[in-house]
Amino acid sequence: MSNQPLRQLPAVHVLLTHPQLQTDHPHAQRVAAIRAELTELRQCIEQGVVPDGELTLDAIALRVRERLVRGERRGFRRVINATGIVLHTNLGRSVLAESAMHAAQSAGSGYLNLELDLETGKRSSRQAFLRELLRELTGAPSGTAVNNCAAATVIALRALASGKEVIVSRGQLIEIGGSFRIPDIMAVSGAVLREVGTTNITRLSDYETAINERTAALMLIHPSNYRLRGFTKSVPLADLVTLGRKHQLPVIDDCGSGALIDFAQFGLTGEPFIPERVQMGADLVLFSGDKLLGGPQAGVIVGRTDLVKQIECDPLMRAFRLDKMTLAALEATLKLYRDEATAMAQVPTLRMIGMTRQELRPRAEHVAAQLGGQVCEEVAYVGGGSIPDQALPGVVVALSADGIGEEELATRLRLGEPAVLARIKDGRVLLDVRTVWESQEEALVHAVRSALRQPARS
Ligand SMILES: *Cc1c(COP(=O)(O)O)cnc(C)c1O
Repeated sequence: MSNQPLRQLPAVHVLLTHPQLQTDHPHAQRVAAIRAELTELRQCIEQGVVPDGELTLDAIALRVRERLVRGERRGFRRVINATGIVLHTNLGRSVLAESAMHAAQSAGSGYLNLELDLETGKRSSRQAFLRELLRELTGAPSGTAVNNCAAATVIALRALASGKEVIVSRGQLIEIGGSFRIPDIMAVSGAVLREVGTTNITRLSDYETAINERTAALMLIHPSNYRLRGFTKSVPLADLVTLGRKHQLPVIDDCGSGALIDFAQFGLTGEPFIPERVQMGADLVLFSGDKLLGGPQAGVIVGRTDLVKQIECDPLMRAFRLDKMTLAALEATLKLYRDEATAMAQVPTLRMIGMTRQELRPRAEHVAAQLGGQVCEEVAYVGGGSIPDQALPGVVVALSADGIGEEELATRLRLGEPAVLARIKDGRVLLDVRTVWESQEEALVHAVRSALRQPARS
């Protein structure tokens, strides 16, 4: 192959002076884009795939310019979540309350008394106020928080049961997603998993028979994202607590979602209600900050003072600790729960879950009227590995994608500006207004219109 085309490639400094590249981007960024483009062109030429026409100075400059523009669109962007899935893990799970965002903003943009008691001038714990709040809201004697519930599980098992056995029902050896599988979590914690029962049936006697001198704890895990149906039996927390007391073994209750209000009022059942779990006598209760609680990513641990202390003394505590912005946001979120009506009104996760068809219909109609879509009753799910089997009654705007195809329309929406995430069902694209703010409706309509107009991508 002739290496003539390689020699035709312009030098970096030549491209830098090209009118197309007199942009506002910093010098280093323009140079990096030019180098990246030239490297790619060189590779193409070596494989013999670039036609001569594209190697003019102008064409290359234009490609670099496009690369710079594309680069701006990389990284995190706001998206409009029209899926109706409130806790969409891929879209960041919980949306924080305004007061939580203010708290995080204030903690991040200035100094604060993170580990200082202003009254005594002495060093204090960053968890002190959080502990007070957790006591107040859950009734537990003590509490603390780490980076997420996965971390809470690892550190609790490590602190209480490293080198010892923890008894778990085979029906609760769950995978949450990612690499969170109970047997693996148990292994990294250093605790030894002692499985009892079968997938569908575990009795109290199964736990009792497995107890021996190596046993350090009994553990319940909420099967957050799946449900056992039919001929099944599991041991209620209260019975396990009685057994634990009899043998002086702590009961660890991994609840997952972290409901601090009773979700039965939304018609949703089966989520452990944290204060109730504490009251039933679980020695440690673990839950997520950004699932049903509606706060930032965090793993909350509440329970016996001695056990919480043991956990906080574990060297992993330092590795798993919350940063100041998250801690501030978590505290602010928890404060809202001091008054249930305030939590309902101000925690977006609760507000969205609680929206009724009557509330959603006029909003869907408003959007549909502008887009020529059809308003239909549909259901949505909470998401985020919570309440997988109970649907939220909703109202959606259904768009028929005539001449485009529903997959293509959904793709265009996803690639649009702003990006819109929608559901596909029965050949139509569904926009669920439950997870769209009223202030986003105009942008949503605009995004859909341009997606419908846009010619097919090559
Ligand atoms: C979701 C979940 C976890 C993990 O929580 P993260 O906060 O996502 O780390 C652990 N246990 C249960 C039962 C869960 O549902």
